[in-house]
Amino acid sequence: MMNLSPADFKTILSELVDENPLACRGVLRLCGTEFTDTIKTAQVTLGQRSILRVNLDFLRTHCATPEHVKAVLLHEFLHVVLGHTQRFQKVSNALNLAADAIVNAIIHRKCGDAYSSFFNRFYSETARGAINLLRSRADADLETLGVSRETLHIWTKLYQGELSLDDVYQAVCANGASALHEALKSGRLVFLGNHTGEGMEDLDLPPEIRGQLDFAHGMLRTTGALPGQQLQCGNLTVPQIEDPALKAWRTTVSELLRRLAAPDARNRARRLEARVVRLPVLHEGDRRATLQAGWSPLLPEANWLLPMAEPAVGTAVYLDVSGSMTAELQRLTTILLRFKHLLRTPFWAFSDAVTPAVFKAGQLVTGTTGGTELGCVIEHLKATRPQKALVITDGYVASPPGEWRDTLTRHGVEFLISNGGSTQIVCKLGRPVHTLPALPKR
Ligand SMILES: [Zn+2]
Repeated sequence: MMNLSPADFKTILSELVDENPLACRGVLRLCGTEFTDTIKTAQVTLGQRSILRVNLDFLRTHCATPEHVKAVLLHEFLHVVLGHTQRFQKVSNALNLAADAIVNAIIHRKCGDAYSSFFNRFYSETARGAINLLRSRADADLETLGVSRETLHIWTKLYQGELSLDDVYQAVCANGASALHEALKSGRLVFLGNHTGEGMEDLDLPPEIRGQLDFAHGMLRTTGALPGQQLQCGNLTVPQIEDPALKAWRTTVSELLRRLAAPDARNRARRLEARVVRLPVLHEGDRRATLQAGWSPLLPEANWLLPMAEPAVGTAVYLDVSGSMTAELQRLTTILLRFKHLLRTPFWAFSDAVTPAVFKAGQLVTGTTGGTELGCVIEHLKATRPQKALVITDGYVASPPGEWRDTLTRHGVEFLISNGGSTQIVCKLGRPVHTLPALPKR
C-alpha cells in the first residue's frame, strides 16, 4: 500500500517525463491527466484531446515505490507506441499475454529491477505456467509454480530480448492457455494497461501525436529496446481461428520433437538456459528454504534460478517436400514454425536431395526436385551424425536396401507419416513409425 495523492502522482509523472526512459517524453507530455475508477489500471486515449486515465486506487494498492508507478505508466506507453492497443479488442487472451510479456521484458531490460520488481509483485499470486513470462524473475520453487522446461527456455530468451511478439504468442499457445483463461475469468489476473482497444481508433490522429509515436518507436528501435526487426503491428494479425486438424497434429508433432531433442554437439553456439541450482544462500523467493532455516540445524540451501551456458538442444528434422506432400505441407509448416525453438537449425527438407530449410515471414523456404528418395537422408545422417532424428514423409518411397537399418538405428531415427500417407515401406525399416491423426471430414 502506498500513499499516493493526485499531487504525488503528478510529481511522479513529471519525473518520468524528465527522465524520459524509453523515449516516453513526447507522448506523455501531450496527454492530459484524469483520475477515474471507471478503468482498472491506466489507459492512454489518443486523439484531438489525448488523455492519460489513471485509477489511483489501483496504484495505491499495488505499487510500493514511485518506480512501480512509473513501470505501470511505461507499460501502457509501450502498448501505445508498439501499436498493440488499437488491435487488442479483437485478439485472444494468449496474444494479450504475449504482448504484456514483451512489454514487461523491455521495461526490465531497459529500466532494471527497480521498475520490473512491480511485475514480480503484481503477478506473484497468479504466476502459473505461461503467466510467469510476465515476471522478470521466475523465482521461488519452480515445481509449485508449474513452470515447464520449455516455459523457462522461452522466459530466458524473452528477457534477453531475443523473441518477437509472434514467438512469445506461439509459445503461449503451445503451452496451453487454460491456466490463463481460468485466472482471467476468476479475476485473479488483470492485464495492465488498455487491453480493450477502447478509445484507440487511429483514424485521424493529430499530426503531432502521430509524429511523437513514430519518433518514440524509432528511438526504441535505435536504442535496441525492440527485439529484432520483427516486432511490428503486422505481427498482430495472427490467425485466431484454430483449424481442428492443426490442433491434433500439433500435439503429435510437439511430443515427438520434445522426445527426440538432443544436444547439438556440432553447433558451437551456446544458449543461456535458466537452471535451478541449490546454493547455501537464502533469498526471499524461496520461502520454503527461508522457513526451513528457522528450525533446521543444517546449513539451509535455497533454489536459485541461474542462467547457465548450455549447448543448443533441438531435434534434427527431415521434412519430405516431394510433390505428393504439397497438400499437407502448409499445415506442417505452420506447426513446425510454432515449434521452431525445438528444431535444430537449419532443419532439412528432402526430395531427391537434402537441402537446408528456413522460415521466412512464416513461409517455408527450401528447394525441391519433386521426387522422394530416402537414400539422400541416409547419406546426410552419416555425414552429420545426429543422436536422434525425425523424418516426416508420406511414406511413398522406393523400397529401401537392408543396410539402411544400421544407419537409421545408429542415429535414432523415427518416422512420422503424414495423413493419407503409407506406413507400408517405412515399417520394414525396423524403426518407430508414428502417424498424424486423420483430418476431420468436412
Ligand atoms: Zn498490458
